Amino acid sequence: MKRVRAVFLDRDGVINFPPSAKRYITRWEEFRFLPGVLDSVKKLSSSRRKIILVSNQAGVERGVFSKANLKEITRKMLHAIESRGGRIDAVYYCTHIPERHCRCRKPRAGMLRKAARRFSLDLRRSVVVGDNATDIKMGQSAGCRAVLVLTGMTGRTAAKKISPPPDFIARDLSAATRWILKRKAA
Ligand SMILES: [Mg+2]
Ligand SMILES: [Zn+2]
Repeated sequence: MKRVRAVFLDRDGVINFPPSAKRYITRWEEFRFLPGVLDSVKKLSSSRRKIILVSNQAGVERGVFSKANLKEITRKMLHAIESRGGRIDAVYYCTHIPERHCRCRKPRAGMLRKAARRFSLDLRRSVVVGDNATDIKMGQSAGCRAVLVLTGMTGRTAAKKISPPPDFIARDLSAATRWILKRKAA
């Protein structure tokens, strides 16, 4: 069987505006899609790639918000994406605090590996899109290409200092999507 390619999307700062003063999005009312995101997810959906969300949400174990809150946010986010013609094939969260040293918390690649087993993914031909150095590190350590978007926590100056550097720095998910869909290999 030919192995499947994936686009892994981080959530906060890629899909939705990142939480500002507060460190977490705790309720659906605080969740706002970034401009152009629904359209970009739709475009990615028209390719054969699996689209997989991977996000650290340690606020759950910290007790800042509940698993039920997180589930509600996810359900409404997916509903909005689907009603605009897009799809997300799977959602993975690491809800653990860093002190737990779990295998799923970025920059570790546990969520990518779990998805790879489930969908028979070819990680070397897959791409991670994120707004943080940890997303880039996770992606590259698993053999993926990694795209940094500037819609989240990292500005252009900081982006240029990330080492090893992202494979591409994109203004937003729309620009990342164009880069991804142009690539034959990944
Ligand atoms: Mg993020
Ligand atoms: Zn974890």
